[in-house]
Amino acid sequence: MSAAVEAGMPGNPEDLLRQVFGYSAFRGRQREIIDHVGDGGHALVLMPTGGGKSLCYQVPALMRPGTAIVVSPLIALMRDQVEALRHNGVAAAVLNSSLDAETRRRTEQDLIEGRLDLLYIAPERLLRESTLRMFERCEINLLAIDEAHCVSQWGHDFRPEYLKLDVLARRFPQVPRIALTATADHRTRGEIVERLLGREARVFVDSFDRPNIRYTVGLKRNARQQLLSFIRRRHPGQSGIVYCFSRRKTEETAGFLVEQGLDALSYHAGMGSAERQAAQDRFINEDGLIICATIAFGMGIDKPDVRFVAHLDLPKSIESYYQETGRAGRDGLPADAWMVYSLADVVRIRQLLEQSNAGDEQKKLERERLEALLAYCEQAGCRRPALLGYFGENHPGNCGHCDNCQDPPETWDATEAARMALSCVYRTGQRFGAGHVIDVLTGKSTERAEQLGHDRLSTWAIGRDTDRSTWHSVLRQLLAAGYLVPDPEGHGGLRLGADCRALLRGETDIEMRRDAVPSSRKSRSKKAVDIDTESPLWQALRQWRLETARSEEVPPYVIFHDATLAAIVEARPQTLDELADISGVGEHKLARYGEAVIRTLDGADD
Ligand code: ADP
Ligand code: ZN
Repeated sequence: MSAAVEAGMPGNPEDLLRQVFGYSAFRGRQREIIDHVGDGGHALVLMPTGGGKSLCYQVPALMRPGTAIVVSPLIALMRDQVEALRHNGVAAAVLNSSLDAETRRRTEQDLIEGRLDLLYIAPERLLRESTLRMFERCEINLLAIDEAHCVSQWGHDFRPEYLKLDVLARRFPQVPRIALTATADHRTRGEIVERLLGREARVFVDSFDRPNIRYTVGLKRNARQQLLSFIRRRHPGQSGIVYCFSRRKTEETAGFLVEQGLDALSYHAGMGSAERQAAQDRFINEDGLIICATIAFGMGIDKPDVRFVAHLDLPKSIESYYQETGRAGRDGLPADAWMVYSLADVVRIRQLLEQSNAGDEQKKLERERLEALLAYCEQAGCRRPALLGYFGENHPGNCGHCDNCQDPPETWDATEAARMALSCVYRTGQRFGAGHVIDVLTGKSTERAEQLGHDRLSTWAIGRDTDRSTWHSVLRQLLAAGYLVPDPEGHGGLRLGADCRALLRGETDIEMRRDAVPSSRKSRSKKAVDIDTESPLWQALRQWRLETARSEEVPPYVIFHDATLAAIVEARPQTLDELADISGVGEHKLARYGEAVIRTLDGADD
C-alpha cells in the first residue's frame, strides 16, 4: 500500500497529486476524469501522447482501498511505469511472461494480501481463467485498459486478445473501467466504447494539439547534410529518432552521423531481436543517442525526453506522421518534428500505392490519405489547422510555433505555369518522367528530344523563362495535388490526373508556394530547448542523475525528468522545503534524493 494511503491520508486527488507525484495542478480534463471514475463511472480517455493519461488511472487507484488492474500490451512500457511509480513510493508491480516463477509467486501473494496499489498485466495473462479467479478473490478498485485502440480490427495495432477483454464487464460488473488511447479517429472511438465500456461510458476528448512540438517540412536537397545541420544547430547531444523508409537507409544514415562525430545507431526489423533490444535499451537509458529507424521502432517507447523526430522519407499518412512525431517531447519541453521530402519521394510513394495488391476501394482510401499528407506538406499557412483538422479539430492557426508561422513562405499564381506543364506532359504522350518533361519545357536539346521529335512540339521551350528548379517545384506540387499521377507501370512517367481538366480549361487557378532557398544562416543559434545545457549546474545535476540511475538500474528520467532538472537549475533551491516546491518532486523523491540534489547544487561552482 502506498505511503499516502497507509498513513491514513484522505484520498483527495489534489493531495495525492502533490504528495505522491510532486505536481501542483491537474492538466486539461484530468480532474474531471478522476472524479468520474472515482464515482464509479466508466470512461474513455482520448489524449495525445504526453497528454497525461497515466495519472487518470493512477490517482483514482490511490484514492480508494484495493488494487487497480492496468492492462497494457507493451512489456517495456509496463516495466518503466512500474519503476516510475515505485520511485514515487507507490506499491506497483507487473505480471507478465518475462518474470521468473519466484517473482511471480511473490507478486501474486502481494496482490491477494492487498499490498498492491496498482498491478500492470499483459492481456494474455489477464485472460487466463486462473488469473480471473485470483482477481475475484481480491479487492479490485479500478480496471484500466491502456492502448485501447488495440481492440480495433481496422487499426494498425490490432490485438485479438483485446476483443476478449469484454469478459471484464461480465466478471467485474461493479468495478469502474477506464480505457485510454492516443488514437483519435471516430471509428476507433466507437469500437472501444462498444466492445470494452458499454453505452453508459463517458467519453473525454482532449485537444490533440502538441503545443511544444515545432513542425517543419522542407524540401530535400542533400538530405543527410540537411539532417546533420539541423541536429547540430538545434539538438546537439540530445536524443532523437530519424525515420527512414528502407533498412539500408537507416544503416547508411546512422553510419554517416557517426562519421560526423554524432552518437547514432540503426534499428530495423531485419536485425536480430537481441541487437534490436540492445539498441532500444541504449536509447532509453542514455541521454543523447540518435536512432535511425524504420517504422518498426517506436511502438511502446515511452521515453519522455526525445527532443526531435526527423523524417527523411514521407510517412504513410497524416495519422502515421502524427503518431511518429508524437514521440517527441512527451515531457512537454520544446521538441522538433522535422521532415524533408522531394518530387522523387512523391512519385515513389504514389507508385508503391498503385502497384500494391490492395483492392480498388482500399487503394482509393490510401490515395486520399496520401493526398491529405501531401497537402499538409505543401501547405503555405500554419501547419496546425491542417494537421488537427484531419482529426476533426478546429485550430485557429497562427500558432507561432511552426515553420510557416515563423517564416511564412512566398506564394505565387502558378496557373499559367501549371497549364504549360500539364500540356507538355500531354503532348509528350504521358510517358516521361520529370527530367524529360522539364527538358522539353525549357527547350533543352537532348538526343532523346530530337529522336522523338519533341523539339518540334508546340510545347517545346514554352517555359524557357523559368528555371529548372522552379519547374521541379511546379511538377512536385501538381503531383502532390493529384493533377499529375505517376504511370501505373512504375517507370517514373507522369500522366494527367483526373481533375486537371478544369485547370487546363482555365476554369480554376492554382497558387503554389515558392520553395525556400536552403540557408544555414537562417535562425541559427536558436536552440529548441530552453535548457541552458552549458550551465555547470545543469551538467552537475545530469551527472548526478546518470550515476544514480546507473546504480539503481533504471533510466535517468525515472529519477527526475529533464523538465524537473531544468526547474531546479532555474530555481536553485537551497533547502529541502524549496526543493519540494518544484514540479516533479514528490514526497518520496524528496526524502530519497533531496539531500543529494542540494549537495550537488552546492558543489557545482556556477
Ligand atoms: P501519456 O500516457 O498520455 O502519453 P503520460 O501519462 O506519460 O502521458 O504523461 C506525460 C508526462 O506529463 C509525464 O511525464 C507526466 O508525469 C507528466 N504529467 C502528467 N500530468 C501532469 C500534471 N498534472 N502536471 C505535471 N506533469 C504532468
Ligand atoms: Zn503555425
